[in-house]
Amino acid sequence: MGEFDLIRRFFQRPASAGVDVGVGDDCAVLVPTPGARWLVSSDMLVEGRHFLSTVAPERLGHKALAVNLSDLAACGATPRGFTLALALPRVDEAWLAGFSRGLLALADAHGVPLVGGDTTQGPLNICIAVFGEAPAGQALLRSGARAGDEIWVSGRLGDARLALEVFRGTVVLDGAGFETVRAAMECPTPRLALGQVLRGIASAAIDVSDGLLGDLGHILAASRVGARLDLDALPRSAVLAAQPAAVQQECLLAGGDDYELVFTAPPGARLPDVGVALTRIGRIEAEPGLRVVDAAGAPVEHGLRSFDHFAS
Ligand code: ADP
Ligand code: MG
Repeated sequence: MGEFDLIRRFFQRPASAGVDVGVGDDCAVLVPTPGARWLVSSDMLVEGRHFLSTVAPERLGHKALAVNLSDLAACGATPRGFTLALALPRVDEAWLAGFSRGLLALADAHGVPLVGGDTTQGPLNICIAVFGEAPAGQALLRSGARAGDEIWVSGRLGDARLALEVFRGTVVLDGAGFETVRAAMECPTPRLALGQVLRGIASAAIDVSDGLLGDLGHILAASRVGARLDLDALPRSAVLAAQPAAVQQECLLAGGDDYELVFTAPPGARLPDVGVALTRIGRIEAEPGLRVVDAAGAPVEHGLRSFDHFAS
């Protein structure tokens, strides 16, 4: 199968609303919504770095798009389209069928069309760019948190990291527990509906991709504030809650790949219900720095930091 047959077979979609020209020409032509701003983000997935060779292609397709949509969610954007740049070692039709099935199922679930990309031979590498929109001035940014705001997180934290530790051999789980956390790692849910309803409510937001400490730290730095974080309040699965305290701490505070939203909002803000659990986990303070405390308010020593690709 040649390059163009491959694109046609696995990645060309029927025309969709808001797209004048999709896959097949030199550029896609998208129709902007009057008064909206484009929000654009790109994330690359490299084998061995972002995923293990053991992952099912369908889940990999899902995750590649999910982590990109998560960035749009964090900014409160409505997704409008995405491109896919793919380097493949060889044409493996079964792999491509699974990958495109997982990718396009998530795309269809959110009505976001694949509008173009690039396909080349090389070590497996997946790079997606997403395009979304938000009304002018309404994108959720990292820079709006104010002292006194409450800090919230969606869903649960730490399961993806716990799954990684099982693959690394440092944690042992029974079959059902492992499947739960493995699904969190391989099949994250982008919180798009939540991000959109938080426009005009949240003062700042970010998605947790590299670990709560670091990602919340980005909000604090951009907003020039500090925070108190309640370790015992952090939402966790029963599987993670059954682990020793040190493992829980590491997974909750420094585990990445959660793709939950962390956001700040003034106390008393009315948070709409979009069917995902929201938990209050701390408070923004004027004093710089991030102070992790237990339920009694006593400081917790953790010595943890978030993932950094180039940390020495
Ligand atoms: P060009 O030579 O102009 O860069 P290509 O030959 O690389 O174009 O691609 C042909 C068409 O197929 C373009 O519309 C491009 O956006 C699209 N395309 C290429 N690879 C992919 C892919 N993996 N997924 C979706 N569309 C793709
Ligand atoms: Mg061209």
